[in-house]
Amino acid sequence: RPGLYIVATPIGNLGDITLRAAETLARCDAVACEDTRVTGKLMKHLGLSKPLWRYDDHASEADRARILAAMQEKAVALASDAGTPLVSDPGYRLVRDARTAGLAITALPGACAAIAGLTLSGLPNDRFLFAGFLPNKDKARREALNDAAQMSATAIFYETAPRLVKSLETIAEMLPDREVSVARELTKLHEECRTGRAEDLAAHYSACPAKGEIVLMIGPGAAAPVGDQDIDALLADALRSAKPS
Ligand code: SAM
Repeated sequence: RPGLYIVATPIGNLGDITLRAAETLARCDAVACEDTRVTGKLMKHLGLSKPLWRYDDHASEADRARILAAMQEKAVALASDAGTPLVSDPGYRLVRDARTAGLAITALPGACAAIAGLTLSGLPNDRFLFAGFLPNKDKARREALNDAAQMSATAIFYETAPRLVKSLETIAEMLPDREVSVARELTKLHEECRTGRAEDLAAHYSACPAKGEIVLMIGPGAAAPVGDQDIDALLADALRSAKPS
């Protein structure tokens, strides 16, 4: 059936492709993908050969218009280099435009590093905030950490190996009491997940520099943030208990 098929692919272990994803890649007319070499390898692993159309962050309006026009008659799969398309990966505008054009769209869920990291971490998972990549620059990184710290939820960030220690040091300084987790190389041979205080994790990764791909998570604060109404109630309580009997 013509339309857009958003296909999640593995984040390391090729065994994590779903049956439905493999079936869709086998049946579709073309695959729009970030890097044709990366998706080409996956297709080869599955014994498939399909036209691969480059669709990455640099795609122009014209590229998108071409893919949208093709989707009127063809089944087009959208895949990224790893994991779930649109999760810190291209596809948002394509999906929006396909929706506006009234095209058939379906999502084929599968691997996602953020969710795999969260489930492994042992951090509270009833409420979580996925906040994408931690910014590179110190000021923006502190702002992102501060924003995340305001929520009573576990915050999930994508991080790169060279920046990990600096980020952990900043977290240790800003949020010294929080539980932090580093999940690395998920689903791969050297998968590792360490949960503890940011200061201890910073010391560990200074001594043994982390390699590979990383999900960095910060647990929620011990108490929920106090809102204005709570402050009023707390003040009233304090005044009541301060009255002489
Ligand atoms: N769309 C992907 C997903 O669903 O997770 C994420 C793509 S984003 C461009 C790539 C980042 O995701 C990496 O820099 C890393 O932070 C994280 N990541 C991807 N694969 C990972 C893995 N196997 N282990 C840990 N983190 C991973």
